[in-house]
Amino acid sequence: MSVRENFISVSERKDAAAVRSGRDRDDVLLVAVTKTHGPEEINEAISAGATDIGENKVQEILEKYDKVKPVRWHMIGHLQRNKVKSIIDKVVMIHSVDSVRLAEEIDKRAKAAGIVMDVLLQVNIGDEASKTGAPVDEFFPMLDEIMAGCRNVRVRGLMCVPPAGDSPEDAREYFARARQMFEKMKTLEYDNDLYCPDTLSMGMSGDFEVAIEEGSTLVRVGSSIFGRRNYR
Ligand SMILES: *Cc1c(COP(=O)(O)O)cnc(C)c1O
Repeated sequence: MSVRENFISVSERKDAAAVRSGRDRDDVLLVAVTKTHGPEEINEAISAGATDIGENKVQEILEKYDKVKPVRWHMIGHLQRNKVKSIIDKVVMIHSVDSVRLAEEIDKRAKAAGIVMDVLLQVNIGDEASKTGAPVDEFFPMLDEIMAGCRNVRVRGLMCVPPAGDSPEDAREYFARARQMFEKMKTLEYDNDLYCPDTLSMGMSGDFEVAIEEGSTLVRVGSSIFGRRNYR
């Protein structure tokens, strides 16, 4: 199957899962994850209708940015503070904010660029030692601090990557837990007009339909669209 065919097929499955869970198909955004794949394949996905592209490394965004048709770039991987500056004017959303210090750096660079950056706070929903993301019990204190200190960062919601399982169903309980945290985020009020928790980023190739059933509003799908990754 070509990238075009894969993209259309994933997109249709995404739409069907949204409708099945009582929502409109446009209520769930498909972000095509292009890590390790080149501009040609990315442009093929864009031609097939991809509007949003996700990368997990700053270097890959910088290498491909000028070679890819105009599209919305998402930073979905662990982000070091010293690299924020180089992507602040290139991405529409940073999904991987997992510390107050990172949020403050994004805030500073967004302010200098004269913009407001959309961000998601990443939670380590399985509290796994090997994973990034804020520990579950530090998530809301982190949110409070970010809301108190940042004026050029718009917190749009929550992102998570559940523990690897044998079947998509293994992820369901983690997605449900993340959904509960997202619902709690929506009940909070801050003295900060930017606060706008409307995005729950969860679900990848193996489990995005389960994630949508559990309330995801944004799925990040790579290998089901582009095939196996070509690590160099
Ligand atoms: C690679 C990656 C994805 C996509 O994974 P697939 O299993 O290839 O769909 C999604 N989210 C993050 C954070 C990733 O790093």
